[in-house]
Amino acid sequence: MNSQTIHAPTADQIRRAPKVVLHDHLDGGLRPGTVVELARENGYQALPHGDADKLGSWFREAADSGSLERYLETFAHTVGVMQTEEALRRVAAECAEDLAADGVVYAEVRYAPEQHLEGGLSLEQVVEAVNDGFREGERRAREDGHRIRVGALLTAMRHAARSLEIAELANRYRDSGVVGFDIAGAEAGYPPTRHLDAFEFLKRENNHFTIHAGEAFGLPSIWQALQWCGADRLGHGVRIIDDIEVADDGTVELGRLAAYVRDKRIPLELCPTSNLQTGAVGSYADHPIGLLRKLHFRVTVNTDNRLMSGTTMSREFEHLVETFGYTLDEMQWFTVNAMKSAFIPFDERVAMIDDVIKPGYATLKAEWLFR
Ligand SMILES: [Zn+2]
Repeated sequence: MNSQTIHAPTADQIRRAPKVVLHDHLDGGLRPGTVVELARENGYQALPHGDADKLGSWFREAADSGSLERYLETFAHTVGVMQTEEALRRVAAECAEDLAADGVVYAEVRYAPEQHLEGGLSLEQVVEAVNDGFREGERRAREDGHRIRVGALLTAMRHAARSLEIAELANRYRDSGVVGFDIAGAEAGYPPTRHLDAFEFLKRENNHFTIHAGEAFGLPSIWQALQWCGADRLGHGVRIIDDIEVADDGTVELGRLAAYVRDKRIPLELCPTSNLQTGAVGSYADHPIGLLRKLHFRVTVNTDNRLMSGTTMSREFEHLVETFGYTLDEMQWFTVNAMKSAFIPFDERVAMIDDVIKPGYATLKAEWLFR
């Protein structure tokens, strides 16, 4: 055994390692101080605290309550302060900066344009303001010595009826900053099949989409997302574990759906800390990511909502390293999986893997030699 694989990566190495996030919500990743300042500037009165530290803790506690519905409530405040172009630009720029400072080299960040119209903006103005913000954030990150590329995913809300309109919007901006489409919101009672016209439109346009499925709700939701809607990736998809049986002697049997997901290399956008908070999973050790990784599903690691979960990509990996003993080799595997599953063109994904991710890990893996 060589020592590069027996040493767990340090927190500093985890932070410096190139990382890729595919599932991160723009309205779930604001800096608490920014929420406070934007509320003050825009006359938003409903914040539970006017102090950034207290507000940050409030978000985490509300999100810790164990219910997905309660978790979603916290978004009323973040979305509430993101109703002007300046606010959207600022939040998007800071998002790119924060991810870059955490070592993320490629991010797909999602948001629902229809939730940012209360101040009179059009859907197009929302998309353009967020795009401008991401470009500004990429530029500022570069000045700080970090390289990051951010693509937007436009989300439609499951309970609303604007999904086709949002899918058309995503298609219109596909060559200018928007890389795909998603649907999100409470799963129970709002099956993805309600939005078939949006998915069919995107398929006819040869465009990409992911669907929040198999988080709170189980296999039927995953099955619909894949076999009725044609999702390219599963947002969470963690409940695929319900279709996998492990016998006492360690033999594993995959049901038809789990086998399909693995055979077709369907990417799972797993978000460990978020699953713990919503009660979908009891502990990091119980998180299906351990088994799914062993079984070689196309597993990716994600943050979901950095503010509500008090997390970052580095923290997600710290938990996994601590719980499952992962090394830099596994971190690289998760990261390459994510980059392979991104919605940008194939040649760019390959270049990110060969010219950014692999060299980054090689440098870190060689550090033990020079200690
Ligand atoms: Zn999500």
